[in-house]
Amino acid sequence: MGKVIKVAGPLIVADGMRDCRMFDVVRVGKFGLIGEIIELRADKASIQVYEETAGIGAGDDVISTGSPLSVELGPGLIESIYDGIQRPLPTLRASSGNRIARGIEAPPLNREKKWTFTPTVKPGDVVIPGDELGFVQETPVVRHKIMTPLNCGGQIISIKPGDFTIVDTIAKIAVGDTIKDIIMLQKCAVRQGRPFAQKQSPTVPMITGQRVIDTFFPIARGGVAAIPGPFGSGKTVVQHQLAKWASADIIVYVGCGERGNEMTDVLNEFPELKDPQTGEPLMKRTVLIANTSDMPVAAREASIYTGITIGEYFRDMGYNVAIMADSTSRWAEALREMSGRLEEMPGEEGYPAYLSSRLAEFYERAGSVKVLGTQSINGSISAIGAVSPPGGDLSEPVSQATLRIIKVYWGLSASLAYRRHFPAVDWLISYSLYSERLAEWYNENIAQEWSHLTSGAMAILQEEASLQEIVRLVGTDALSPKDKITMDTAKSIREDYLHQDAFNEIDTYTSLNKQYRMLKLVIAFDTLARTALNKNVEPEDIIELPVKEKISRSKYIPENELESFDAIELEMKKEIAQLIG
Ligand code: ADP
Repeated sequence: MGKVIKVAGPLIVADGMRDCRMFDVVRVGKFGLIGEIIELRADKASIQVYEETAGIGAGDDVISTGSPLSVELGPGLIESIYDGIQRPLPTLRASSGNRIARGIEAPPLNREKKWTFTPTVKPGDVVIPGDELGFVQETPVVRHKIMTPLNCGGQIISIKPGDFTIVDTIAKIAVGDTIKDIIMLQKCAVRQGRPFAQKQSPTVPMITGQRVIDTFFPIARGGVAAIPGPFGSGKTVVQHQLAKWASADIIVYVGCGERGNEMTDVLNEFPELKDPQTGEPLMKRTVLIANTSDMPVAAREASIYTGITIGEYFRDMGYNVAIMADSTSRWAEALREMSGRLEEMPGEEGYPAYLSSRLAEFYERAGSVKVLGTQSINGSISAIGAVSPPGGDLSEPVSQATLRIIKVYWGLSASLAYRRHFPAVDWLISYSLYSERLAEWYNENIAQEWSHLTSGAMAILQEEASLQEIVRLVGTDALSPKDKITMDTAKSIREDYLHQDAFNEIDTYTSLNKQYRMLKLVIAFDTLARTALNKNVEPEDIIELPVKEKISRSKYIPENELESFDAIELEMKKEIAQLIG
């Protein structure tokens, strides 16, 4: 047991801590505040405390728990709402009201609730870590696999079906000479990635239903992406859209340091949303972690690790997990604050020199992997981090460090947001390093001409950017008829295709098939227009054809009426043929 010798905000220094280890969790003072050792020098430990430290003073006791910061894993995770160190917020609220009392302990997972466990192995079977022992149908959409714990391979002595709490013994396994009782609850340290068998290169897209993303800047399952953008450019809306619609089995949403009211939106909205694929509420596959700006700064630092460890646990069951962190800038600020209090040598803009490596450590835990166990099962974590650089200045350290790590960049632009072009993903600065690899998947699964279509559309957008210079100098009249068509098609790609209203019931999500039909319509019109030009039709007459209105409204065609696109295509051909005469 040690004694507090210094208190500096969330940082406490204690002596008499010789027997402790780095990253051990400790309890501080009479409130038993939760903290973690982040520096050890001789018998002095620097401890970051996850709760408000007012009232703690020199001489107060510090007791080590002897174990590192860990999360509890098991049935009951889904639909939970936690703070950064996995304390269940609804339970805390019930016991201490709107402001969380200090030192309060509430188990992250319910110990009383009984779950129906169905074994999938039998006595006599030999299992290795990661192997499935059985499952609990946690929600209608999540079959929660109970896996052999990491240190527990051996022969099954007994296992039985029935209703159990997470701390009841569900099986006994002979490990060497000892017999171990297996319960559904597992604990796992958060600062290290959970082990897996093999990393794999991602080849399947994570479909988001957001046209600009899926069509032009796709992310692979197991990919890493960042959304940097100035305040008000729509980062939060994009993250929410992804959490709602991404084709992932499990969503872990880490609200990290953003204002409380933004998190409230998530908390209010999510339970009401329905999954388009299953019809079940989206919460049935979601874990929320909220550490808003008014909550202690150190817990914010931990929240990202808590989130990804929970993500890894579901990955190990063979699920495709998506983790959103909003925002990594606020997380980095927490890192900076702790580093400052530790009086470490500051790096650029006061951030610690290890900022990049910490960021990389987080993103590296994403990926597509073959999980542990005898069966060859794949799982993935896709990580998407929002970056909110002050003043939108991307040269600052967090944005720069992030850019070096991620493979997909959805750059939001203030000027697009100002013009109310949402999602304000700027097609001229965004990129996806997965595009080429995923092209094969799109061509095989959606349409052979997919990559041809998308690269053609992107070329038109880029041409528009250079033509705009001319228009600015001498006006549209100076453009050749061909260029006028290019400008018109580009406008159509921007306004009819890329612009997508997150708040419109139909427009909020577009399937890949519909994306294909929509883009095909725009490009088919462009091709027909050019044929008409060659037959000496005036570009103005083409641009004003009535069918253009139908093209621009094609985003509102419901998913079950995609055959309407055929009718529009026919109409388009007819109108152009009439012009040609
Ligand atoms: P940030 O998180 O970058 O500060 P928000 O995500 O809160 O910005 O977006 C600001 C506003 O922009 C939203 O309240 C909304 O009105 C509008 N907006 C952003 N994205 C969309 C979208 N896809 N569709 C419609 N409106 C949007």
